[in-house]
Amino acid sequence: MALIVQKYGGTSVANPERIRNVARRVARYKALGHQVVVVVSAMSGETNRLLALAREVMSDPDPRELDTMVSTGEQVTIALTAMALMEMGIRAKSYTGAQVRILTDDAFTKARILGIDEENIRKDLDAGFVVVVAGFQGVDEHGNITTLGRGGSDTTGVALAAALKADECQIYTDVDGVYTTDPRIVPEARRLTTITFEEMLELASQGSKVLQIRAVEFAGKYQVKLRVLSSFEEEGDGTLITFEEEENMEQPIISGIAFNRDEAKVTVLGVPDRPGIAYQILGPIADANIDVDMIIQNTGADGTTDFTFTVHKNELNKALAILRDKVQAHIGAREITGDEKIAKVAVVGVGMRSHVGIASEMFRTLAEEGINIQMISTSEIKISVVVDEKYLELAVRVLHKAFGLEQAG
Ligand code: ADP
Ligand code: ASP
Ligand code: MG
Repeated sequence: MALIVQKYGGTSVANPERIRNVARRVARYKALGHQVVVVVSAMSGETNRLLALAREVMSDPDPRELDTMVSTGEQVTIALTAMALMEMGIRAKSYTGAQVRILTDDAFTKARILGIDEENIRKDLDAGFVVVVAGFQGVDEHGNITTLGRGGSDTTGVALAAALKADECQIYTDVDGVYTTDPRIVPEARRLTTITFEEMLELASQGSKVLQIRAVEFAGKYQVKLRVLSSFEEEGDGTLITFEEEENMEQPIISGIAFNRDEAKVTVLGVPDRPGIAYQILGPIADANIDVDMIIQNTGADGTTDFTFTVHKNELNKALAILRDKVQAHIGAREITGDEKIAKVAVVGVGMRSHVGIASEMFRTLAEEGINIQMISTSEIKISVVVDEKYLELAVRVLHKAFGLEQAG
């Protein structure tokens, strides 16, 4: 007997028939004698619908109220899933994040899980129930409902698997595994049977939506056995996230290409080039809990510098307001600009560690298509660039081809 956590994304619970399909799969695992915890997302499109509704009433919706509202999507699907299971004669019980007590911090709309009270779930499992938990949501220490950021149901699934010391966490979605890049953009993309944890972490952090980055972080921290599978296929092993690099296998240099349309660029122009400037610019941004991704600084001949960084598009206006109100006059910057029309593309692979020339191959490929690179950031296992968003799909396609990632045949 194993304890398995199965997470189903929005398209997998999009309507009653699909929810019944989820229940059928759960029933099969139950019949084999396993204990099953099911985590579900809201029906596909529902979270977007709720967010749009909020914006019709308040231009910049209050984050606490937004979380109270947007978490209702998952409250619907947990009850429907439990009902579908009951209809098949399986005892099932649903829980919201607050009912479980998935304790988070109070960073509304992007809260982090601090702890999970798993005792009641364990009791229910031991009593023979299938436990259905709402993804994406938690509760802070004051009882406020919080949400974990877009795609956060993945994180609920993996965090529950960690808390329950589950034998496996299965992420069921609308693709049958992790591909060399998003198969919607490059139909020739190839499914990977395994991917190392490090690469998955990097792909997720660079924007591959197939797994939320925090889910991958949890899997790494607690060594959760994590697999991505299709909810629309009966068979198939999906993609297993591995924690050790396979020694005997020829490791490809590049394993995948990720991209991200969600970032915006902030540039602080004409800043005096002196110690403390980066701190004066980024300190107030960090204090406002705005995540910064790429950063570059260039010093010109006249002793001033331009300072550029990227933030999530949702936080661009907030970042600009902070800089214009609190920082610009203070540091004597000439101008502060924002640009939303950017996209980030990254090539990822642990094989890069032992190979030189990947960056130049990447830059040559983009140059041949006339794609201008606006920012570059590298680590041991990734190279990412910011380009004009209109070139995003082209960039992904040509890089996928240049690095030989297509399916054989
Ligand atoms: P769910 O609602 O099940 O969580 P998501 O839409 O969040 O599903 O994630 C699955 C989607 O991720 C796929 O439909 C695919 O378009 C996208 N995706 C992006 N990068 C990849 C990749 N490297 N491999 C597989 N899918 C990817
Ligand atoms: N329903 C949430 C979203 O659309 C969480 C998730 O699907 O993982 O982002
Ligand atoms: Mg998702």
